[in-house]
Amino acid sequence: MYYLSTRDPHLHYTPAQAIAQGLSREGGLFVPAELPVLAHDAWKTLMSMSYAQRAAYVMGLYLDDFTAEELAVYATKAYSSMTFDTPEIAPVHTLDHSTACLELWHGPTCAFKDMALQMLPHLLSASLQKNQESRTACILAATSGDTGKGALEGFKDVPQTKILTFYPQNGVSEVQELQMRTQEGENVGVCAVVGNFDDAQSGVKHLFSDPALRNTLNERGYFFSSANSINWGRVLPQIVYYVSAYAELVQQGTISLGDRIHVCVPTGNFGNILAAYYAKQMGVPIDKLICASNRNHVLTDFLTTGIYDRNRPFYHTESPSMDILISSNLERLLFALTGGDTVLVSSYMDQLADTGRYEANELLKKKLSACFAAGYADEDATRATIGRYWKDHHHLLDPHTAVAVHVREQYREATGDDTLTLVVSTASPFKFSDTVLRSIEVSDLPDGLAQLDRLHEVTQIPTPAPLERLKEKPCRFSLCVEKEQLSDVVLDFLN
Ligand SMILES: *Cc1c(COP(=O)(O)O)cnc(C)c1O
Repeated sequence: MYYLSTRDPHLHYTPAQAIAQGLSREGGLFVPAELPVLAHDAWKTLMSMSYAQRAAYVMGLYLDDFTAEELAVYATKAYSSMTFDTPEIAPVHTLDHSTACLELWHGPTCAFKDMALQMLPHLLSASLQKNQESRTACILAATSGDTGKGALEGFKDVPQTKILTFYPQNGVSEVQELQMRTQEGENVGVCAVVGNFDDAQSGVKHLFSDPALRNTLNERGYFFSSANSINWGRVLPQIVYYVSAYAELVQQGTISLGDRIHVCVPTGNFGNILAAYYAKQMGVPIDKLICASNRNHVLTDFLTTGIYDRNRPFYHTESPSMDILISSNLERLLFALTGGDTVLVSSYMDQLADTGRYEANELLKKKLSACFAAGYADEDATRATIGRYWKDHHHLLDPHTAVAVHVREQYREATGDDTLTLVVSTASPFKFSDTVLRSIEVSDLPDGLAQLDRLHEVTQIPTPAPLERLKEKPCRFSLCVEKEQLSDVVLDFLN
């Protein structure tokens, strides 16, 4: 199988090239030339497998330059009881008669980014070997919270890689900042940047496009790479949990094999829900993909009107990992729904870059509405949903998951459609203790990490061990620089 770019049909890449390079040179994203389909008898096999075995099975359909043995080794390392706090890895819980919850936050950083970022480093370092790359990959990441820690934890002490993460000085939660500043590993670096997330992000983009810096690093035996969600090596491991969840639901007797389900996903950069779309194309019986946004609902508007327009105010919400106005992975969906029309996709992306807006043609609009439903939750609805689920179901939701649960209920009420729906849960509520405590009407909140204890006291739910351990960990990183100084930080880091 080969990969091509969403903006140029003539470039062909092997899976290992696509993963090592991350982004195609003309700015397009790598996509598989065709999507594999699950064999008829695959479900029986999948149901008898562990999560790691399912991961090796599904990824093997997309990565034909990796052997089954290689993928099995990576999956066993990535999804083990050393790194995840439940043997099921991605458990499925029933919430009510037509709602099941897929929990993706049992990994080392307590957010769903772990599902991909525990796997990507294995895929990347194997890809370097397959491409006979002798230089060391320096992963640069600008983060607004969950990605940075997920990438640090995934890449720590991985041979032939170094990872440097930049976060906005006042733009991440206290838990998120501590998670990064206490990061262990010999090949890691963490640095705060004065300003907001855009300052950190634009500073990092600058580094990628600085030819002098690239030359210097090349001489020192390094090249830049990205752990951003546009890398195919991050999308692919996310397809696995949709296949796995369907197998789980059949096994639990919640549905019969072949029954169609809906999937509802809290969405920011469109990576998670795109993986659900690919799972559907592979033959997982998924009917509607329900896209849930917060107050920054550029995607809801696109999916309901066909107009993508980022010219709007940006809001900092209590679901910060979804605070995004340019959803990069949407480009892959456009490519798929237009039948691989690279000219059309390029024109939409050019319009987006030039004017911040584009409008889908009629055919594309039809396809979007056949496949997707969408809605959003504002701050009040998000908090009310957390409060209600705790009161009525004794189930504690984080703010991102609450957005999805709310949108799912909206959809059920508006359509009367009671089809079993898999709601994707993307973070542990302990990562956002402040909002969660307020939503379940606890006042007089303590500061910082003491909130973890309070949330545990009130709910009697155990604090996830990786967050509990933050209390004892020494702070290793305290550097904070202006965004003009990032290249000095890089040169120092790669000395
Ligand atoms: C990253 C993130 C999301 C958004 O996922 P996308 O793949 O960017 O759509 C949702 N919830 C949490 C907790 C996240 O960390």
